[in-house]
Amino acid sequence: MPIYEYSCKKCESKFELLRHFSDAAEVTCPKCGGVEVEKVLSSFSCGGSSGGYGAMGCAPSVSS
Ligand SMILES: [Zn+2]
Repeated sequence: MPIYEYSCKKCESKFELLRHFSDAAEVTCPKCGGVEVEKVLSSFSCGGSSGGYGAMGCAPSVSS
């Protein structure tokens, strides 16, 4: 089961959620209850240009 990291636009806190691929339920911030959250691609953005996460977490062994 994949763990997704989300970032709340309201309080700017980050949290992780276990999500099914088919889970379309709304994600809410556990801290402020805000619904304006955006998915943060961390461990999957290896070598990508979309993240400020360093190459330290760039592991090739990420599977499901
Ligand atoms: Zn929040």
